[in-house]
Amino acid sequence: MTNKKTDIGIYIHIPFCIRKCAYCDFLSGPAGEQERTEYLTALLQEIAASGRKEGGPYRAKTVFFGGGTPSVLPGEQIGKILESLRQAFHVAEDAEITMEANPGTLTAEKLSRYRAAGVNRLSLGLQSMKNDELRLLGRIHTREDFFESFYLAREAGFDNINVDLISALPGQTCGSWEETLEETAALKPEHISAYSLIVEEGTPFYKMYGPGSSGELLLPGEEEDRKMYRRTAQLLGEAGYRRYEISNYALPGKECLHNLCYWTGIPYLGFGLGASSCFEGRRFSNTADWEAYLKNSENLALVRTVTEELTEKSLMEEFCFLGLRLSEGIDRKEFEERFKRPFGEVYGGVERRFVQMGLLEVRGRRLRLTEQGIDLSNQVMCEFLL
Ligand code: SF4
Repeated sequence: MTNKKTDIGIYIHIPFCIRKCAYCDFLSGPAGEQERTEYLTALLQEIAASGRKEGGPYRAKTVFFGGGTPSVLPGEQIGKILESLRQAFHVAEDAEITMEANPGTLTAEKLSRYRAAGVNRLSLGLQSMKNDELRLLGRIHTREDFFESFYLAREAGFDNINVDLISALPGQTCGSWEETLEETAALKPEHISAYSLIVEEGTPFYKMYGPGSSGELLLPGEEEDRKMYRRTAQLLGEAGYRRYEISNYALPGKECLHNLCYWTGIPYLGFGLGASSCFEGRRFSNTADWEAYLKNSENLALVRTVTEELTEKSLMEEFCFLGLRLSEGIDRKEFEERFKRPFGEVYGGVERRFVQMGLLEVRGRRLRLTEQGIDLSNQVMCEFLL
């Protein structure tokens, strides 16, 4: 009999922020100490319930605290959550344990407690090096706060740090974006995520910059956005970062293992308000209703709603369109091993068409987007839906 456990990723949602940013549509908001304590109790109950039901055959190789701003919680509470995870699941000795943190919420003491609790990777939400852009975004911090947090994190021993950036802000020029990139890269964080702003419905930004608004024209156009994207790859490439996913860059060996779980089809379990999972052939989401979550977190059947039963067809589609986000692209041999069907039989036509158009290229076993294909990635990926 073998004891081999299946690797999974674990996501923990911490829905608290000091203040809501103007562009944010994440499930997050300000909360008092009592709400935070109640939430922690519910979260620990959910983790324990899942451990009793699902813990046995799995090994967590990554844990990711996202939000919200997990760093509003003190080290002691993060420690409690990790302790409960270790009781419920086998958490690998060398698991990557990431915590999102915002400048303006960190102190030396907090950071050393996070480390002592087992957090070994920090993801800092900087977004821009320009104070006027940070104000526009409604961020709680300045560039100076970011520098302070970054150095404090290094002093606390964090040797794996991601910095999140956002481009294509209203009124932003390519020159201003390049300065943000250069200053960030000069600090040599191990990882940089650089996404373009999406103006989401329901946010204050949507009223100010959404379709038909007076500010709409301030948003960089598609061509300017593409130019910023190309400069990102170029500048960060020169600074030693490899683009390993459409919007993610890492120093060698410092790719985010948790995100790679999502992109390579490794199952993951999400805990907390509104958290999503893809596990044992299903996608499901936790309730986003605060009262319902606090009341029912121990009863997984009441907290979770199945959103999709994964079929072979949806798994094949996902294998392709998530795999194509990666710079290495998809491994056609692995497709055949996983689905017991030749890749060409399912996707031969699409592959030939896009290779001819110069949007996809074949590299040995792998099929990947070309530079031109990255510009049109959404259209290409859509064609992989069966
Ligand atoms: S800190 Fe992040 S999660 Fe919180 S409001 Fe701002 S963008 Fe949203």
